[in-house]
Parts: sequence; structure tokens; C-alpha cells
Amino acid sequence: MNDINKKQRILVVDDSSENIDILVSLFKDDYLVAAARDGAKALKMAEKNPPDLILLDIIMPGMDGYEVCRRLKENEATRNIPVMFITALNEAMDEVQAFGAGAVDFISKPFQPIVVKARVNTQLNLKRKSDMLEALAAIDGLTNIYNRRKFDETIDHEWRRAARHRSSLSLMMLDIDHFKLFNDHYGHARGDECLRRIAEALKNTLQRAGDFIGRYGGEEFAVILTDQDPDAALLLAEGLRGAVAALGIPHERSETEPRVTVSIGVATIREPSPATSMGEFIDAADGMLFTSKRNGRNQVNGALI
Ligand code: GH3
Ligand code: MG
Ligand code: MG
Repeated sequence: MNDINKKQRILVVDDSSENIDILVSLFKDDYLVAAARDGAKALKMAEKNPPDLILLDIIMPGMDGYEVCRRLKENEATRNIPVMFITALNEAMDEVQAFGAGAVDFISKPFQPIVVKARVNTQLNLKRKSDMLEALAAIDGLTNIYNRRKFDETIDHEWRRAARHRSSLSLMMLDIDHFKLFNDHYGHARGDECLRRIAEALKNTLQRAGDFIGRYGGEEFAVILTDQDPDAALLLAEGLRGAVAALGIPHERSETEPRVTVSIGVATIREPSPATSMGEFIDAADGMLFTSKRNGRNQVNGALI
């Protein structure tokens, strides 16, 4: 997630070091500026560490600016970086071609530094807003953890990544036990508060930065773990179950325990293969959750598929 106070980053791409120097000195006080002398290097740098804006020359030996821009737009990792052309070309058709390649602005040389500055500032303000919106669109409003939309995106991404790297993937489905009775007895507001506290406890118990936790539905949560063996995933699930029980939120009407508990189902796949679909993987975790419910709730069951 983009930190609002963090300095934004610009990548300047130009084959002339003189032009690079001019642009770097224009922006170095307000932004972090990096430079690349050719298109291939620029693509590599942009993919590795995407900047907030790219200032791109058009006429360069090797790959020209139009081609660099097209490739940036084709790559998922660099697609959302705004590209501004700064070029000696000044025909209307050049400009049309630049916008056709996906640029957000086009400036002809020689340029007025204060105009370039103003236009760059505008683009970076827009970028900051769109980053904030994107981050907000991924968060569940009640619990402040990721929402279902982000879960769908993440599981799809991790499934394909695990298939590519032949690595393991685990999915946990967690569901609060007798939550309808909790709402009936304590009221919906206390129910909401309970959801918030559980989400926080789950999040704090997951320690690896790469572990994903999201709100899957009403009183269900989902956790995605990468590169964990089945036993480690079960152990972690047990830790999450324990963390919720340890909150000690009273639940007088629960038939399981006098406090709020969760049931968990875990599925681990050693490496995704065409023999199993992602849907079957999710169903397997759901099936294990059902087993935990049927066997008495407040427990973990897992399957290796
Ligand atoms: P089980 O142990 O079998 O899971 O029983 P349950 O009562 O938890 O399951 P059920 O699916 O019957 O009920 C889920 C309840 O979760 C019903 C619904 O009112 C409550 N719920 C879902 N979303 C929210 C929410 O955002 N806030 C509150 N307070 N309650 C919610
Ligand atoms: Mg449920
Ligand atoms: Mg429930």
C-alpha cells in the first residue's frame, strides 16, 4: 500500500545524459528521481520497482519511446504507471501516436521548465489519488482487513504463481461458531464489535508479511499461505483458533463453549496442476470447515490435495 507521506518516484528515460541532467535537477528537490539511458533498461527498472511517473523520450537508439510505452502497458506490473512523453518531435501525429501507446501527456522540446513541473505535479497528484482509491477498494469497511474482492484477486494470483514455481499453497476458511445466536442474544452492534476484534486478533497472530487475511463473507474469514508444508499450515490454523478463544469474548448462548470460538478448514496443495482446479481447492477448504463444524466446532481440520 502506498504511504501518503512517502516521496513519490520519477523515472527519467532519455538517451542523452544532458537531457537527463536537466530533468533530474528540475525534480530532485521534490521527488526521488532515477534515470535510464535506454528502453530495455527502463523496462527492467520499472518492473523491479515501479515508479509513480515515467518521463519518456521518443527517439532513442534501439527501442523507441512508443515501443517502451506499449510494453509498459502490456505488463501487469507496470500497466498503471503514468507515462509522459518529453520529446523533440512536435507533429500532431506524433502526439496522437503517443496517446495511442497509452501516454497521459506529451511535451515538446524545447520546453519551459515551470510548465513541465506543473504538468508533472498534476500527474503525480492524480497518481496519489488513484493509489489511495485502489487501496481503499481492497479493504473491508467494518473490520479493516482485506475484503472479498481482494481475496478473489489474491487467490487467483497465488494459484498461478504456485503453479509456475511448483510451490505449495494453503487456504484456510474460518467461520465463527453460533454467531447468529450471538447476534440474537447480544445485538448486532456487539456482533460487529466481535467481528472487529476477531479480525484484529487473526491479523496479529499471522506473522509472516506475505500471509494474506481477508473477510470472505459475513462472519467468515480466509487466510492464504504460500510455501508452507501441510503440518505448518495446520499448526498456524491451530494458533489462530487459540487466539480467538483467548480473546474470551463471552457467548452465553453458544452450545460449544461459553465464549466465542471459530471453526477452521484448511486445504494444502503441494503444487497446483491441471488435474485440480482452483475451485476444487477452495471447495476442499470449505469441506474441511464443514467437517470441523460437524465434529463439534472450535477445531481445525485439514486436507492435503
Ligand atoms: P455456525 O456455528 O454453524 O457457523 O452457526 P452460525 O450461527 O454462526 O451460522 P449462520 O450462517 O446461521 O449465521 C451467521 C450469522 O452471522 C448470521 C448473521 O446475522 C451474522 N452476520 C453476518 N455478517 C454480519 C455482520 O456484518 N455483523 C453482524 N453483527 N453479524 C453478521
Ligand atoms: Mg457462516
Ligand atoms: Mg458461523
